[in-house]
Amino acid sequence: MSEKSFTLETDADGIALVTWDMEDRSMNVFTEAVMAELAALIETIAADAAIKGAVITSGKKGSFTGGADLKMLRGMFDAFEAKKASDPQAAVAELFERAGHMSAIYRRLETCGKPFVCAINGTCMGGGFELALACHGRVAAEEAKMGLPEVKVGIFPGAGGTQRVPRLADTQSALQMLLKGETLSAAKAKGMKLVDAVVPQADLIGAAKAMIAGGLSAVKPWDAKGYKLPSGPVYSPAGAQVWPAVASLYRKETNDNYPGARAIVKCVYEGLLLPMDAALKVEQRYFTEVLQTTEAAMMIRSLFVSLQALNKGARRPASVPALTLKTVGIVGAGFMGAGIAYVAALGGLNVVLIDRDQAAADKGRAHSQSLLEGAVAKGRSTKEAAEAVLARIVATPDYEALRDADLVVEAVFEDKGVKAEVTRKVAAVLREDAIYASNTSTIPITSLAEAFPDQERFIGIHFFSPVDRMMLTEIILGEKTGDRALAVALDFVRAIRKTPIVVNDTRGFFANRCVLRYMSEAFDMLVEGVPPAMIENAAKFAGMPVGPLALTDETAVDLALKIMKATIADLGPEAVDAKQLKLIQTMNEAGRFGRKAGKGFYDYPQKPAKKHLWPGLKEMYPQKRPDEVDFEELKQRFLVTMAHEAARTMEEGVVTDPREADLGSILGFGFAPYTGGTISYIDGMGTKAFVALCERLAARHGERFAPTPLLKEMAAKGETFYGRFGQAAAEAA
Ligand code: NAD
Repeated sequence: MSEKSFTLETDADGIALVTWDMEDRSMNVFTEAVMAELAALIETIAADAAIKGAVITSGKKGSFTGGADLKMLRGMFDAFEAKKASDPQAAVAELFERAGHMSAIYRRLETCGKPFVCAINGTCMGGGFELALACHGRVAAEEAKMGLPEVKVGIFPGAGGTQRVPRLADTQSALQMLLKGETLSAAKAKGMKLVDAVVPQADLIGAAKAMIAGGLSAVKPWDAKGYKLPSGPVYSPAGAQVWPAVASLYRKETNDNYPGARAIVKCVYEGLLLPMDAALKVEQRYFTEVLQTTEAAMMIRSLFVSLQALNKGARRPASVPALTLKTVGIVGAGFMGAGIAYVAALGGLNVVLIDRDQAAADKGRAHSQSLLEGAVAKGRSTKEAAEAVLARIVATPDYEALRDADLVVEAVFEDKGVKAEVTRKVAAVLREDAIYASNTSTIPITSLAEAFPDQERFIGIHFFSPVDRMMLTEIILGEKTGDRALAVALDFVRAIRKTPIVVNDTRGFFANRCVLRYMSEAFDMLVEGVPPAMIENAAKFAGMPVGPLALTDETAVDLALKIMKATIADLGPEAVDAKQLKLIQTMNEAGRFGRKAGKGFYDYPQKPAKKHLWPGLKEMYPQKRPDEVDFEELKQRFLVTMAHEAARTMEEGVVTDPREADLGSILGFGFAPYTGGTISYIDGMGTKAFVALCERLAARHGERFAPTPLLKEMAAKGETFYGRFGQAAAEAA
């Protein structure tokens, strides 16, 4: 690693330009060394009489910093864990010290007597934006983006973010931004008063220096006499307008599941009652507290550490040299194929999009056109960039166009015969080293591979709809899938910036298996007479983004019936609960196919009216009174049934790495993110507690909850999934 991350140049006017540019990294990140260097620089600038003030910027094109370094955060956790057993008090004291380190450096910058201006040249997240907020002025380039996303990984901005944002912006906007971990455009940040000016990139440094030359004060408003909070004091008529609404905003955003979010509200409320130094101490205390929660540990592991590892291709076979994909073919330009073509072109690949005739292929391409036009209209892309993406997609019915393809993804009808015919047609023109992938959602990959001459080159790449928004892909290994096919599939997924999980071939793969449990539990609750609104609310209170009945409507109630029938055909009539089958049949007979039909478990009146649960549902089963329902238990049933299924997939060897089960569940079906995912939910409470919970639910609701042999064995030995499978999986990767 390079010795120096910053350069300091002072111009003839005595204005220093501090440029952060870490030599051996594509992005600047905070490490212990960076912080030490920054602290020393502040002292140098403070002490040098020839320096009037300083501008801080980044030398990386388009980015200021992505935030903290993984190793630093992990170091903090590891040191705490290591010390906790022998000396818990000292462990907490040390954690408190380390948690406040960055905050103290920023406070020193803020009070050192020289004015600092942050020139935000591009993406500026987390600790980087907190540094900017500590400066006396902020100028942002037009295309810069900034935010404090910490709450999304279970913590909160603990280096002054919770104090400086609500001292610049009004309380409501400040809390909204902090609680959502929102990323702001430069214009929005200016609107919130979080930056002082937005200028073209070329004028950035000049504008920042001009602020200092213009006599920018080195005393922050809140350190000066007479400072007034943007929304007025907490205990004031103005405060009385704001704070009662905060509780409902907080509940709405979090359902009280996220300790990081709860701490944000406390920090802002308590901090605004105090002068800055005391307020920062309050923030540091809460930060130390939150760092010790299970939620923070699990979320950081899954949504930060594991996510980066999987995105970088943790499961890519090392034996296959790096490849650069140029052209992908997509056969089937329907709902899914069109979406895959779009993300592939967006990822810089040339796309050949094939369907049965020119009109069908063109229709698939038109999907990209409409998404791109939408992006231009919203200012997310430029006309030129959008045109370049569209130009990469060639739509044709001619299979000859696949000759140059490195990879072909098949997305035709879910029919083994149709798929086999297409597979043979593609194989006839495909290069000998090219890989063939199917996007099937239900047909075993091993059986589809039989239609392809070389089964080593056959693999599953399962996308989720809508393809442009869902971040997960399941890569499915058939029995004979080779390493090169896996490497190409992972390289493809990386190029289109999605997160892959690698699973073995089985009915429903991973995500759909778990999500079917979620829906099926809701059907059981309906049959038991639980009021439908309680079912949907329990799921949301448990942390699910969409209620199970709404989700069934989205994926279609006729599809639910199709799946039930296919399950019965494959596994026998006892594989589907008779009462559930009857419920879904009744819905189908009434034409209640889901959102696409305008009616399902919900009614979908014309906009602007909102969807509401279909009143007829309550007439199908004798309804329990709300006080006869154990609401907490409903929440548990949802999470346990999905986590239990995930545990089964690991027991069966379908999923081999707990990180993949965790991220697959959060990204694939929104499994309560505060748990860190299905497997971390189990590990977080401990296998022993999970088994006890399963046994209790089994006694009350049936054998489906009975813990599997592996779970019982692990509970008896006190093992965790990460302990048992994590290390081996990480080493094998
Ligand atoms: P779709 O009906 O929207 O599209 C299928 C397309 O394939 C149509 O455009 C059709 O004209 C084309 N096609 C059919 N036979 C063809 C042939 N012989 N040659 C060329 N093109 C042909 O279906 P879809 O929802 O996009 O599903 C496609 C695949 O993706 C299926 O295997 C499905 O199981 C899978 N999948 C679907 C979803 C989903 O949510 N819809 C999610 C994951 C996976």
